[in-house]
Amino acid sequence: MHDYVNSVLESVAVRNHGQPEFYQAVQEVLLSLVPALKAHPHYARHGILERLVEPERQIMFRVTWEDDSGQVHVNRGCRIEYNSAIGPYKGGLRFHPGVNTSILRFLGFEQVFKNALTTLPMGGGKGGADFDPKDRSDREIMRFCQAFMSELFRHIGPDTDIPAGDIGVGAREIGYLFGQYKRLTNKFNGVITGKSVNWGGSLIRPEATGYGAVFFSHEMLKMRGEDLTGKVCAVSGSGNVAQYTTEKLLQLGAKVVTLSDSDGSIYDPEGINAEKLAWVMDLKNKRRGRIKEYADTFKAVYREGVRPWFVPCDCAFPSATENEINGQDAQELLRQGCKLVCEGANMPCTPEAIELFQQAGILYAPGKAANAGGVATSGLEMSQNSTRLSWTREDVEQRLHQIMINIHKNCYQTAEKYGCPGNYMVGANICSFLKVANSMLEQGLV
Ligand code: NDP
Repeated sequence: MHDYVNSVLESVAVRNHGQPEFYQAVQEVLLSLVPALKAHPHYARHGILERLVEPERQIMFRVTWEDDSGQVHVNRGCRIEYNSAIGPYKGGLRFHPGVNTSILRFLGFEQVFKNALTTLPMGGGKGGADFDPKDRSDREIMRFCQAFMSELFRHIGPDTDIPAGDIGVGAREIGYLFGQYKRLTNKFNGVITGKSVNWGGSLIRPEATGYGAVFFSHEMLKMRGEDLTGKVCAVSGSGNVAQYTTEKLLQLGAKVVTLSDSDGSIYDPEGINAEKLAWVMDLKNKRRGRIKEYADTFKAVYREGVRPWFVPCDCAFPSATENEINGQDAQELLRQGCKLVCEGANMPCTPEAIELFQQAGILYAPGKAANAGGVATSGLEMSQNSTRLSWTREDVEQRLHQIMINIHKNCYQTAEKYGCPGNYMVGANICSFLKVANSMLEQGLV
């Protein structure tokens, strides 16, 4: 089976030359599937891996828009409809200057497995544009979103492909995107998730990814007879996932000492309490300022261009972006006493870092399991839209909590069944692969 996996990996490398993030994501998944492929050799006979690594559809388009001074800009938009074996394509949109085919393909590929883990009927997709929202006015953001949706609307729909937010796409952008979709189609439906609660959004969706990651970490700690009370936690990022990871950690009695953005990180040994977190939310979501201002306001340490992995901590929650913990960072975290790494972001740990965590025997939760609470709650938003009902905050949070408990249990049990006890990466990859692969087989060669 190693030969089969290696031959598929070779062809992925050749056919997707210059796409390192995509190759990294595929390699991580495929190598960990070997025990399942050995136990079920028919997947190889049916070419399941070859089919899984190739997106079903990839749409690229020009996005032309005008800034406030009247200057015309051209960005590249893209939607990757990766796999629809278990439901319509579902996955976020990212607006960031670093967006390219490699990044979107890696995110789309991961999304297929993540969505399968939620147990909800959602296929995987991802999209975005190489647009930099930083320092753009509200009206510029609106014009860009409208231009982007002017092409995307042809390809999406509540039973076809349901986008959501990701880096650079929050509540404001979702509003502008939906407004343009509605204007173009004359339809008010559940085509996008992460909507405002005023017009069809779900309570707890903004909180869901961060809360879900913390619920997952709590389940892992429980297996070792521990909990989060009193744990010192390093969180990276200061956007949606980082904010609500911090909020739930505080609610469960942990102490959060770091946050970051793309310029640098802050270290507050006193802990970021609820009041300071509210200040961060205002800074990032309303004033759109830089995390450095936290250090100036609360007399914390600020390190320009440095990630927050240099502090003593029990747990780390990387919640900013891909490959933000490399081998060196991982060694530093282990040296600082870190015993749990829970990925709120997508693929924040490099393969070298994951290897070091596994060798050290600490708890490591891969993003496709740990951050699946976001898309799971998007699935709950879709259910509410379909039935035209809104559930209460308590109801949605309780369902999210139960989904995260189930994801944890499924990953844990699958890892054990396939001979890798305690390896959540293997458990998550095999558990989701089996669901997607079996669905593909049942639907024939399409
Ligand atoms: P946001 O845009 O709200 O926040 C992103 C944060 O990460 C910001 O603090 C940003 O800093 C920082 N960041 C972005 N790029 C870089 C970089 N290259 N280097 C250092 N810091 C960076 O995004 P989200 O919180 O929504 O997403 C964070 C991660 O979580 C992503 O990996 C995303 O794919 C993943 N995710 C998000 C989900 C969601 O529901 N939102 C669901 C599942 C996964 P700055 O402001 O300076 O750009």
